[in-house]
Amino acid sequence: MFTFQYILHRIQYRLHSDDLSMKPRIVVPILLLAGVVLYFLLFNPKPQEASMLLLNGVMYTMNDKHPTAEAIAIQGDRIAGVGSNEAIKASFSSSRIIDLRGRAVYPGFIDSHAHLEELGAFLNNVDLSGTSSIREIQGLVAAQSTKIAPGAWVRGRGWDQNRWESKSFPTHAMLDAVAKDIPIYLRRIDGHAVWVNAKAMAIAGITRSTRDPEGGRIVRDASGLPTGVFVDNAIALLDSVLPAPSEQERTAAIEAGIQACIRVGLTEVHDMGVDLEEISIYKKLIDSGKFPFRVYAAIDGVGPAWDHYVKNGPEISKDGGRLTIRALKLYEDGALGSRGAALIDPYSDDPANRGLTLASANVLRIVVSEALEHGFQVCIHAIGDRANNITLNVYEEVLKSHNARPEKARFRIEHAQVLDKNDIHRFHELGVIPMMQPTHCTSDMYWAEERLGPRRILGAYAWRSLLDAGSIVPAGSDFPVESPNPLWGYYAAITRQDHTGWPEGGWHPEQRMTRDEALKAFTLWGAWAGFEEDSRGSIDLDKLADIVILTRDIMKIEPADILSTTVEATIIGGSVVYSSPPFAQQLATRD
Ligand SMILES: [Zn+2]
Repeated sequence: MFTFQYILHRIQYRLHSDDLSMKPRIVVPILLLAGVVLYFLLFNPKPQEASMLLLNGVMYTMNDKHPTAEAIAIQGDRIAGVGSNEAIKASFSSSRIIDLRGRAVYPGFIDSHAHLEELGAFLNNVDLSGTSSIREIQGLVAAQSTKIAPGAWVRGRGWDQNRWESKSFPTHAMLDAVAKDIPIYLRRIDGHAVWVNAKAMAIAGITRSTRDPEGGRIVRDASGLPTGVFVDNAIALLDSVLPAPSEQERTAAIEAGIQACIRVGLTEVHDMGVDLEEISIYKKLIDSGKFPFRVYAAIDGVGPAWDHYVKNGPEISKDGGRLTIRALKLYEDGALGSRGAALIDPYSDDPANRGLTLASANVLRIVVSEALEHGFQVCIHAIGDRANNITLNVYEEVLKSHNARPEKARFRIEHAQVLDKNDIHRFHELGVIPMMQPTHCTSDMYWAEERLGPRRILGAYAWRSLLDAGSIVPAGSDFPVESPNPLWGYYAAITRQDHTGWPEGGWHPEQRMTRDEALKAFTLWGAWAGFEEDSRGSIDLDKLADIVILTRDIMKIEPADILSTTVEATIIGGSVVYSSPPFAQQLATRD
């Protein structure tokens, strides 16, 4: 039955559905009155037809006024009802009723900093993540070199010298020993360095006399000869001769990336750095119904794609919210692992080195202003405390000079990894969003203090300090740098431990997030970071029906058990886009 209580409930829900803004108290009585009038006008004793009902669940809505629920009604691509089993059953009927049998349900997870095509390419090329020796890598490269077409390059990604005994950068000779005549190109795990063999350097024309480009470094031996490792902007010397992947290969990579995402419960990714061809592939996939996912895309730096979009303006929530293009990604420095992050004081383990800045404050100011004037959000990669300080200063100046409200600009700093203690409160004051990756912390904790020393480390991966200063901290994985599995990120956020539980009690545990914060970081806060909090990020009336069902309740179980928790089903826009085999079985039998 369509009851009076239900109407009241619906109105209350509406009022509280946006916990990021405050509604004046006066609105309550007016809306209640309107609700009573509407009730009499629209009274309809018949339950509404829903396309799907989810019953008997433990649902975490991420709406602080109604944090949990038992049941959801879905109509088309939207959530039409949330509440108790009784309330939903009384108000809706459906030919598709799913009994969740007490399973835990969350808003679809949003990874708010990642690289979709690179994830797919990573899966389709040599995966070096987790390798712990040069010998292991040589074996994988040798195997791939027998598989590739004549003239092709061996490509791979994921090496990390910090995992090897030597802890030092590798050399081209180690790859020459495997393949002399096939060019080999291997990206470091963080993407900020590339390791190649002599053949690849010969193709690129790299010799002793090749100069380091601005913002980049060619690693050399004592005699000045390039050793085969290229850092940050020096990577372009190789990229310029690397054969571009075909549209078919890129499409295959994107499709592989999407499949990997929905299997781990992601319903949306903020794709940090797309070009025109990638956008056109997205649109083709959407048009042909092969895009069971959502992407909030940031254009990769100033170039042809930026020129196009500055002229034509953002594309917001196109195709039922599948694709939004309204952000620009810029880089201010490199990464900590390859000592490319720009620090205020020199590296503690490399006293002659303060890292690299990739753009002057002047250039940033011009581009950030242009973006703001054309309705685009800016996402600047800044890892070191110097890069973060420069970026905050630029954002502050641009907000002031344009008299812009922070929540309208929602400027972002991607990673915000090492912060000067005087800069932490500025994020909240300027409304600049620190976009952080919990798993970066737990991957870097083994060596980060060597790079930064005991004082600076206190401002590194400082989630709690930022939260206490009033910021939200949306979370991502930066995949393929880390695993796309948001549960690994959630685990890292609440424990600051690796998968073996090291270190006991957590690494700088005072900076941990609570479970509620960590879940918001992967849902509602990600939506806010993409101006999408009205349509997603929580289980609320009229929001998109993006929902994930897990095997266990990650808000309650032991942290170690989170790592073995898996996805039963991922629902995007009311469609089940992934389901585990046992759950698929249950769906088929319809109990
Ligand atoms: Zn990234």
